[in-house]
Amino acid sequence: MADPVSNSPVVIAGAGPVGLFSALLLVRQGYPVVVLEQNTEVTEDMRASTFHPATLDLLDRCDLSGELVAMGTPAQRWQYMIHGTDERAIFDLGVLGDLTRHPYRLQCEQFNLTRLIVERLRQEPLCDLRLGWQVTDVDPGEDQVRIRASRPGLSETFQTPWLIAADGGRSTVRKRLGLSFEGSVFPKTSITLVVRFPFENHVPGLLGVSYVWTDDAHYSLMQIRDLWRFSYSPNQSQTVEDALSEPVAQANMARVFPGLGPFDLLQRNYYTLHQRCLASFRVNRVLFAGDSAHLNSPAGGMGMNSGLHDAACLIEHLVPVLEGAGEHLLDRYDRRRRTIALEEVQRLSAKNYRRHRETDPEKRKVIWAELQETTRDRDKMRAFLMNSSMIRSRQREQEIA
Ligand SMILES: Cc1cc2nc3c(=O)[nH]c(=O)nc-3n(C[C@H](O)[C@H](O)[C@H](O)COP(=O)(O)OP(=O)(O)OC[C@H]3O[C@@H](n4cnc5c(N)ncnc54)[C@H](O)[C@@H]3O)c2cc1C
Repeated sequence: MADPVSNSPVVIAGAGPVGLFSALLLVRQGYPVVVLEQNTEVTEDMRASTFHPATLDLLDRCDLSGELVAMGTPAQRWQYMIHGTDERAIFDLGVLGDLTRHPYRLQCEQFNLTRLIVERLRQEPLCDLRLGWQVTDVDPGEDQVRIRASRPGLSETFQTPWLIAADGGRSTVRKRLGLSFEGSVFPKTSITLVVRFPFENHVPGLLGVSYVWTDDAHYSLMQIRDLWRFSYSPNQSQTVEDALSEPVAQANMARVFPGLGPFDLLQRNYYTLHQRCLASFRVNRVLFAGDSAHLNSPAGGMGMNSGLHDAACLIEHLVPVLEGAGEHLLDRYDRRRRTIALEEVQRLSAKNYRRHRETDPEKRKVIWAELQETTRDRDKMRAFLMNSSMIRSRQREQEIA
């Protein structure tokens, strides 16, 4: 007689980019899923805006890249620049044209991806997408996981052979299993303003992705259609409320762009930045992916991208197991993606964090000389871009036994 639990749907906690992409990959291969998301609709999450070439190639597996690219702004060239000078270090992703079908960074809000996947999942009879359902408890058994979830006035227990925990940085699943999430908090916080203003007509030499040093600070400007995201480290002695207030945000922009304001600020968001990682991405029948498993500085835009790479790798390992292969295969998922999180994503994003925020003139000279040397030499630029566009980490993942 067929075992009812082993044939039950895979349950996915969390309908962020990672949970949703995992769900779509599974149903497209014929496996039923239940997705439990605490919010009643897919949120307008302003965090991620950068999709890297390696990720766009992966999203093509579910025909998502074309529509996503049409909703955002591709940037083949991006740069470091020194504010108020004509000094630049320009990187051209065209040099990776033989390695990717998408030799550009796409600037597009992450909610465009989640909405697109939700639309696709609604067409899939194998997907039971439950918005407004909060996972409240997890009971990991030998042969199954029992998950308690509720919405106002109703609660239900789900039994599944495999639970994918894609419930983000504050993961309930992780907490209910009592797992520690080792790491640290970066010393400087970050603010991102969404601004409607044609910076391209006012800042000479600006590219759609620009990381900029001012005399004593830094900012970045990223273009998404007719909007720009302006990010910076606020004065660390200010309270969150003060730093985020309209007058303080306007004053901060006026210091950088005197005479151009006041600016039309559509959004103001404040972030504390963490670097953390689980000791294992597999805890028996619970499989962690994305922010629930690892966090990194957003400098360089790698968190969501690496979470989507986790999802692809996880499903590549889970499908054979659902078809009868040995469960130990899932340990390789852990080895591969945890190594990448620690040795590639956290290493590179922490380096970006330090590079962007460096203010010591002597240290800046050394960094600037390195950037100039890299952009002048095609092979060096290619090696740099293979890391930053996450092509190298995808290649390395495949090499891990
Ligand atoms: C300022 C900033 C900028 C960033 N920019 C970039 C970028 O440009 N590129 C990039 O790659 N990354 C970026 N990131 C990181 C990126 O936003 C995250 O890595 C990404 O959202 C992780 O996706 P996820 O699906 O793992 O988690 P989330 O997006 O956090 O999704 C988790 C989901 O689980 C749901 N959930 C949580 N608890 C429960 C529960 N108990 N029951 C049911 N549902 C639950 C949540 O409601 C949510 O919908 C940035 C981060 C920050 C802070």
